[in-house]
Amino acid sequence: MKPAPFDYLRPDTLDEALSVLAQHGEDVRPMAGGQSLGAMLNMRIVTPAILLDLNWLQELAVIDGRTTGALVRQRDALDHAALRTAVPLLAQALPHVGHYQTRNRGTLGGSVAHADPSAEIPLTLATLGGEVELRSKQKIRRVPATDFFRSALVTARQPDELLTKLHWPAVGLATRTAFMEFSVREGDFAIVAVACVLDEGLGRLRLGFGGCGETPQIVARDELGRFEARIIDDVLAEATASLDYRSDLLATAAYRRQLAQVLGRQAVSQALKREAAHA
Ligand code: FAD
Repeated sequence: MKPAPFDYLRPDTLDEALSVLAQHGEDVRPMAGGQSLGAMLNMRIVTPAILLDLNWLQELAVIDGRTTGALVRQRDALDHAALRTAVPLLAQALPHVGHYQTRNRGTLGGSVAHADPSAEIPLTLATLGGEVELRSKQKIRRVPATDFFRSALVTARQPDELLTKLHWPAVGLATRTAFMEFSVREGDFAIVAVACVLDEGLGRLRLGFGGCGETPQIVARDELGRFEARIIDDVLAEATASLDYRSDLLATAAYRRQLAQVLGRQAVSQALKREAAHA
């Protein structure tokens, strides 16, 4: 199929883009890498009156410490040495995002704005406690990732807002991370993905579960003491019992719950084996 007719606009500045959104709101679909929107347009899942091509807004393609612009390509984030060191969990998750071909065009902001329940970048941002920066003509606001994702493909973004930046929190010196997922084929969306952030010295564990329900689901535990297998198994049994699970063509809810427990244990074990992020 081919998209329904639309007007194509290619703003040269962020202010121009925000003016279009202020004037046309719901009728506009911003386009970043087009790796999700392209298919949605072709299948007429979305039929916007205006397609707003963001790809010339180089001010959105900047990596500044632990702040990434919406238009940072997934490939560039993966190749960026300073970002890999500052946010190791993102570097562990990105190889699971699609294929290197799609990562050449796909962006960090587009993945977060798209909000697929199985997407790795939203899960990573939510697990780390990161924030989404949204901008309209009137204001700039920052929304915690855990509040940004409302349900599958639905976010807190208002029609006149653009997602402009992602803020990735610092991790403690002794923090270790790991990212595990299970998908039908390499490069497919995850059936279940688990992001793990732990600090054994503080007995602190934070697990993010993707692909289970409609949005990333976060479980946090403090004062766990030593991370012995028995303790971790008890935490995982209790944590995975508290999550929402969906059934679809790929897997039943029961299968996803089982996967969440298995991948959770593997992620904790892999993180414990890793050197601390900044040791
Ligand atoms: P686009 O497709 O351009 O846009 C996506 C949505 O976000 C649209 O609704 C658009 O209007 C909106 N949007 C984009 N940028 C902004 C902005 N700045 N402000 C407001 N709204 C915005 N993704 C995964 O996470 N895991 C996978 O395993 C995976 N596998 C894939 C396999 C294939 C073959 C393909 C084609 C894609 C795959 N993807 C996967 C999706 C890919 O990562 C996309 O790049 C990503 O989902 C969207 O990023 P984008 O830059 O392409 O955004």
